[in-house]
Amino acid sequence: MAKRDFYETLGVAKNASDDELKKAYRKLAMKYHPDRNPDSKEAEEKFKQAKEAYEILSDDSKRAAYDRYGHAGVDPNAAGAAGAAGTAGFGDAFGDIFGEIFGGARRGGGGGGPQVYRGADLKYAMDITLEQAANGFDTEIRVPSWENCEVCKGSGAKVGTKPKTCHTCGGAGAVRMQQGFFSVQQTCPTCHGNGKEISDPCVSCDGVGRTRRNKTLQVKIPAGIDDSMRIRSSGNGEPGINGGPSGDLFVEIHIKEHKIFQRDNDDLHCELTIPFTSAALGGDIQVPTLNGKAEILIPEGTQSGKTFRLRGKGIKGVRASYPGDLYCHVVVETPVRLTEEQKTLLRQFEASLRDGDDKHSPQSKSWTDRVKDFFS
Ligand SMILES: [Zn+2]
Ligand SMILES: [Zn+2]
Repeated sequence: MAKRDFYETLGVAKNASDDELKKAYRKLAMKYHPDRNPDSKEAEEKFKQAKEAYEILSDDSKRAAYDRYGHAGVDPNAAGAAGAAGTAGFGDAFGDIFGEIFGGARRGGGGGGPQVYRGADLKYAMDITLEQAANGFDTEIRVPSWENCEVCKGSGAKVGTKPKTCHTCGGAGAVRMQQGFFSVQQTCPTCHGNGKEISDPCVSCDGVGRTRRNKTLQVKIPAGIDDSMRIRSSGNGEPGINGGPSGDLFVEIHIKEHKIFQRDNDDLHCELTIPFTSAALGGDIQVPTLNGKAEILIPEGTQSGKTFRLRGKGIKGVRASYPGDLYCHVVVETPVRLTEEQKTLLRQFEASLRDGDDKHSPQSKSWTDRVKDFFS
């Protein structure tokens, strides 16, 4: 039997976007899903074809190979379950889409018994200074943690009583629910997946079985860390359900604005404001660095916008072998609030410049010339 074109199978155009592919597949998957078409060989076949087409076309490299060479370009064996699988192989591509449709939690573990879930990850936002980021430091944070309730020892049932097997799901933790035309497995609404029912809850923990406490964690902030980087503390997130693993805790770094420096990866930038006399005469100028001071020699006739680079005075990134550089951007300051005497001096100075036939202000000269050209 000749194989149908994958685009035709999904009913989309050759240039369909990822989104269109997904939508088309979702529609077919829902229509031909075996749960909705029990005992229909035809539906099963259509379902498998749609799944295979989607698996190939949703993978950029496989799609490119298919576009070029057709079915021969995508080896059915390389496509995993796509070619060979029977009913048992309704695998990942399908699971992903169903996760989205129903917003359901993923099942951990397999087989019967209550469902096992990994605990949620927690995020802890930490504001630090640029200096702290550059040098690294050790600190402690207080984070929520959960302990088995001391009164009921974690069972959630009142002392002297025991939890019973859930009457809704018979202890399986999941039930099959009718969703439109077909059924889907969902977490049991009565026991929320743990397979047990508590008729007499523990008064101390309200039947939850555990209590929330705060605990102190030591955190090492590595030197060179940058804004929005995250440090993972494994297993310090929320506890898992029914014995599932705990989530992780992520410490997310936010670097506060600095009065002088702006960071750009491993480099630092700062403004260097100098009086116009220093800019004209040149000289040694002290500049701040993150860990102290440095001196730079400003040459005579330095202009606004000139940049001086201080090698290695930036930040050494977490994975860098060398520190970045510090860039000082010159801003020449025009003097303000002059006395009459100072103004007289400046006028004399100005007159002396005019005698120099514009050679002292080449930029102004060329600008004036350009403006003249423009108006003439
Ligand atoms: Zn308790
Ligand atoms: Zn239940």
